[in-house]
Amino acid sequence: MTSARKPKSEAAKLQFRIGYGWDSHEFQRGIPLKIGGVTLPYPKGLGGHSDGDVLLHALTDALLGAVAAPDIGSLFSPSNPKWKGADSAVFLREALDRIRSAGYIVANMDSTLILAAPKIGPHAAAIRAHLAELLSISADAVGVKAKTPEGMGTENAAIAHVVVLLEKKSAARSKPQEEER
Ligand SMILES: [Zn+2]
Repeated sequence: MTSARKPKSEAAKLQFRIGYGWDSHEFQRGIPLKIGGVTLPYPKGLGGHSDGDVLLHALTDALLGAVAAPDIGSLFSPSNPKWKGADSAVFLREALDRIRSAGYIVANMDSTLILAAPKIGPHAAAIRAHLAELLSISADAVGVKAKTPEGMGTENAAIAHVVVLLEKKSAARSKPQEEER
């Protein structure tokens, strides 16, 4: 009988947490193309929320989702002019603050971009290195893959899917001030 009434804090004890995020933006002429915090040479950029960085938005939502926090649109309303053209790294930092407050660090992430152009392959290493720096993890824990949208009719859009794995910080690392002597 008691097993049916789990305490609210049960999830906080999990050693690992998975997070998933998805985003899409439409290409527009005359704005810079930013993917994963890296500006790519291309005549079109991604419009919509902030700087349109579809990969950072999906990553932010994956991190927020892993700790059951509100999503990026709830925290940073697209209708708020404050975020127009904003650097999406701001949103990522907020998500990282929240997972750290919840007692977690990022173990690794993986992502898939779906877009007709430009080719991501030549820039994947730079994007992985930049994401690794933002997340304070090694570049070999950052996956960045890209596919073209065969048969999807989304040639003028960029789509990103991201999964993250969070690992609980050890007590010693998270609360050194509480160490007993
Ligand atoms: Zn977005």
